[in-house]
Amino acid sequence: MYELKKWFEIPIGSIVPEAGSSMINNTGSWRMLRPVLNTDKCTNCLICWIFCPDDSIPVNREQRFETDFHYCKGCGICAVECPYDALEMVPEMEIKLKEIE
Ligand code: SF4
Ligand code: SF4
Repeated sequence: MYELKKWFEIPIGSIVPEAGSSMINNTGSWRMLRPVLNTDKCTNCLICWIFCPDDSIPVNREQRFETDFHYCKGCGICAVECPYDALEMVPEMEIKLKEIE
């Protein structure tokens, strides 16, 4: 019969040993969908920047720049919130296949 371990027998896990781990961990590496920006439609209203939970949309002097794909997780919130339909969520695999063609 299988016996459950006591709480003090379970090894300690999920420890963050030091601050700043988000600077070295490339959280965008497991993105499945990529927000592709249509610069012709974008009005720089910056609503996407306000909503992005990962602070992955660089802005300077009220202008948005290309998404920081080192950290963008592809959640798609920016594309949903964009009032000008300027962001399209495209499968990463589709983009990777086009790059090697
Ligand atoms: S929400 Fe849409 S239009 Fe506004 S800055 Fe972002 S991409 Fe551009
Ligand atoms: S897909 Fe998500 S994480 Fe990536 S830029 Fe848009 S809101 Fe930010």
